[in-house]
Amino acid sequence: MPLIVQKFGGTSVADPEKIKNAARKAIRAVQAGNQVVVVVSAMGKTTDHLISLAKQISDRPSNREMDMLMSSGEQVTIALLAIAIEAFGHKAVSMTGAQIGIHTDNSFMKARIKSISTDRMKAALNDGKIVIAAGFQGIDDDGNITTLGRGGSDTSAVALAAALRADECEIYTDVDGVYTTDPRLIAEARKVNRISYDEMLELASLGAGVMHSRSIEFAKKFGVNVQVRSSFSDVPGSLISGNSESSAPVTGCALAKNEARLTLIAVPDKPGNAMKIFAKIAAAKVATDMIVQNIGTDGKTDLSFTVPAADLAATLEVLETSLAEVGAERVDYEENVAKVSAVGLGMEQQGGVAQKMFQAISEKGINISMITTSEIKISTLVSLPDATETLRAVHSTFELQKEPADGVLSHPANGGQVPTLTGQALSRLSGMEEILIEGIHLDRQQSRITLSSIPDQPGIASVLFKTIADAGVVVDMIVQSCGKAGKAVISFTVPRNVLDKALAVSKTLTVQWKSGDPKYNPAVAILSVRGTGLRSHTGLAYRMFKTLADGGINVNVISTSERSIAITVDDANGSRGLELLKTEFAKDMI
Ligand code: ADP
Ligand code: ASP
Ligand code: MG
Repeated sequence: MPLIVQKFGGTSVADPEKIKNAARKAIRAVQAGNQVVVVVSAMGKTTDHLISLAKQISDRPSNREMDMLMSSGEQVTIALLAIAIEAFGHKAVSMTGAQIGIHTDNSFMKARIKSISTDRMKAALNDGKIVIAAGFQGIDDDGNITTLGRGGSDTSAVALAAALRADECEIYTDVDGVYTTDPRLIAEARKVNRISYDEMLELASLGAGVMHSRSIEFAKKFGVNVQVRSSFSDVPGSLISGNSESSAPVTGCALAKNEARLTLIAVPDKPGNAMKIFAKIAAAKVATDMIVQNIGTDGKTDLSFTVPAADLAATLEVLETSLAEVGAERVDYEENVAKVSAVGLGMEQQGGVAQKMFQAISEKGINISMITTSEIKISTLVSLPDATETLRAVHSTFELQKEPADGVLSHPANGGQVPTLTGQALSRLSGMEEILIEGIHLDRQQSRITLSSIPDQPGIASVLFKTIADAGVVVDMIVQSCGKAGKAVISFTVPRNVLDKALAVSKTLTVQWKSGDPKYNPAVAILSVRGTGLRSHTGLAYRMFKTLADGGINVNVISTSERSIAITVDDANGSRGLELLKTEFAKDMI
């Protein structure tokens, strides 16, 4: 008998009527001949309310007690939903995370799922019951209740679907699908019919709150088809699977409002030095993004990165205690910044996408303070008051409101084959959410150009990359960070055979900006580690840096995304770097 997992988010179970509505949807699925597991969130804003109660008592409640508290929200909903289903004359049984056997690690408030026991659920299903599972929660080895992080019920649902080998996972929410951007922010946003795992993973991790990004890691790893649909209507939703909707360069854009930028100033530029800090930040389970290391002058380098604003205090604590160890001068930080990103598989095949985005932002007179790019996403950091306007400019420049012209499904670079774990690979995983590396690559075709001391004002990146594109040069990695005293630093890579051309046009601009000659490295190698959910596994980038640093290899430009972390090193170190990384990650390879 087919098995489906349905998940109802907070607004979909906000009151008794809505709970009855969810009960009807579950019963309908049973009547259509399915076995059904329903995962629910806490009712409405219950989780926020519980957090605010704790905060009224203490500024720093312990994470263990927060999990005990927050998990109570879902426990109310499972019972009420089971009561509703029984009231409609059907059999149901509610289960907490512990009763199901959702085993997690012991990182309270950010726990990762290690395993899920399916026996008890299967027995109940075979007994004709609808199983109602509490989302967002699990239990650690010592029997403590844990939670998976805000929005984590999506992850519970997809993980259960994976463990039960469900035929489909339906996410019922307050929008009728995945949109090209948050429809509450941009009214013209369009619902997409399909979106690929990689695009959804990237969008979710860059701020599209519609799905918890870790749920998409599960979906991709275990090949779960996820349908996002409305709780309140029957219109078709969006399918998240191995395929993208079209070959357009950009599929969607996202805004992460609550970001903070940190910069470590004047770090002695020795292999691995600045990166030591990432070990500590990773240990604090803080996900860093937009990591930009400016190319050092006078043997010193500045390292900038962003973290969620909620993690700023913890990150500052880590940095303050490590300053002396790495010999950095000081830490600089900025709150009230926002990250606006464009994502699309099609961008891998097309040049000029970043340039188009910078131009759209510059036409609004908005300044970009940081830039990072990877194969399928471009992120820009802007000030918070400019955030929505930036998102709107990006959405409209890529005409995301229009149905894609080709309407053809484009496939991921690997030919539509999403590596789904089966048999041997699965049995090697000791934890369901463990890191999985698909490949490690070396690209020896690139040169790097760095422009420093350029004016930090609207339109600079746009002018630079337009001039370079007009010269027919396709740029690969781009990073920009805020330098000292209102100056910006931009590094980018170009194919070696067009280095001279790229340098010549760069120079026409640096003359104009009176910013000194471009610096360059004619032969850099790009080393990249590819996998699933790399950014959310906070320690991975650090392992990569450390492995290279231990081998005496200095890292220059860094680009991180959910599916790859890429760095440039001197070409002479490329092959050795590759071997070192292959050894380090051997046990994590598929
Ligand atoms: P639930 O409580 O059902 O989990 P969420 O509030 O977590 O619901 O997620 C749904 C919300 O996500 C929508 O109301 C919408 O405002 C927001 N959202 C952000 N980005 C997107 C997007 N790209 N597509 C659809 N919704 C989005
Ligand atoms: N109730 C939890 C939260 O509000 C989990 C969820 O809704 O997904 O974050
Ligand atoms: Mg949600």
